[in-house]
Amino acid sequence: MKVLHVTHPSGERHDTPPGHPERPARLRAVWQAVEGLGLAELSTVEAPAVADDLLEAVHRRSYIAHVDMLAAAGGGWLDADTSVGVHSARAARHAAGAAQRAAEALCAGEAPRAFVAVRPPGHHALPDRGMGFCLFNNAAVAATAARRAGKARVMIVDWDVHHGNGTQAIFLRDPSVLFVSVHQEYWYPGTGAVEEVGEGPGEGFTVNVPLPAQTGDGGYQDVFTEIVLPLAHAWRPELLVVSAGYDAHFADPLGGMVVTARGFARLTTLLDEAARALDAPVLAVLEGGYDLEALAASAAATVAVLAGRGAGSAPIENPPPEAPPAAIWPRVREARRVLLHHWRL
Ligand SMILES: [Zn+2]
Repeated sequence: MKVLHVTHPSGERHDTPPGHPERPARLRAVWQAVEGLGLAELSTVEAPAVADDLLEAVHRRSYIAHVDMLAAAGGGWLDADTSVGVHSARAARHAAGAAQRAAEALCAGEAPRAFVAVRPPGHHALPDRGMGFCLFNNAAVAATAARRAGKARVMIVDWDVHHGNGTQAIFLRDPSVLFVSVHQEYWYPGTGAVEEVGEGPGEGFTVNVPLPAQTGDGGYQDVFTEIVLPLAHAWRPELLVVSAGYDAHFADPLGGMVVTARGFARLTTLLDEAARALDAPVLAVLEGGYDLEALAASAAATVAVLAGRGAGSAPIENPPPEAPPAAIWPRVREARRVLLHHWRL
C-alpha cells in the first residue's frame, strides 16, 4: 500500500541544549531507517509550512506569536524542558505543515497511509502553551485539517508512553475527534487518569488508559484488543491518526515500559487492519522516542506495516519481563467500566 513519508529538513535544525534527549539525531535516525527499508511503496514528500489559519484553529494566536518572538530573539524557554532556538519556529511550522499535508493528501485519496517524520514533537502542546519538548500540536493539526476537508469523525490513538495532555485539551469539548491515550500511569505530565473523559459535548470522546510500569507487547495488545479496536469499530472514524511515540520501548531512557519494535509493529497491524475494515486512511505522526536504535527500528517497523509488509523487518529483541496480566487487567477492566457509560462496545 502506498505510504507517504512526509517530512522537512528544518526538523533537523530545531536545536536543543547539549544532552537534551529530544535532539536532531532522532530525526536523522528515523529518516535513515525509513529510507533504508527500500520500499517501493514509500513516497517521500517535503512538507510546506502549516497554513496560518489552521495553526490558529489549534493554538492561540498570542502563543504562536510568542514562539516566533523567542526564535527571532535568538531563543528561549517555554518550560524547564522545552527550548525554542533560532530555527525552531520554522521547524515547528513545517512539522505542523507535514501533519497538514499528510492529512489533506489522505483525505483527497492521494494515498491510504502516511508517516509524518518530524520534530519538534507535538502531543503535549496545549492551545496556549508549549511544554514537554512540544511546540505545536502536530496530531491536532492533522485532525483539524481532516475535519476541514470534510471528515466528520476523526480518531486519534496516542501510544506515546506519556499522556497526550495537549491533544486532550485541544479536543476536550469536541465530539468530532475521539482521543484515546494509552500511557504509563503516574508519569509525566501527571494527567490522563481514567476518569478524564472529556467535557460538555465532548464527554465520552476522551479515553484514557493508564497502565502500570513494565507493561510490554502482550499488555499493549490486550488493551488494543479490548478497548482501542472496539472503540474504532463503534466510532467508525474517517481518518485514524496515530500519535506514534516510541518511548514505551524497553530501551528508552524516559519510559518505564518494555515494548519492543515488533510490539509496535503488532500495534500498527491491529490499527491498520481495523482501518482497512472501516475503509479509513491512517496517518502516523512521530512523537517521542529517545533511544536512537529503538526509535529507528520501531519507526521503520511502523512504516513497513503501513506499506503492507508485515512485522518481519523489525529486529528480534530481548526485552526484560513484562508486568503480569494480574497487574494490567484491573486497569483494562476499570477503563472499560468508565467507557461503558458512553459507548456500547
Ligand atoms: Zn513521550
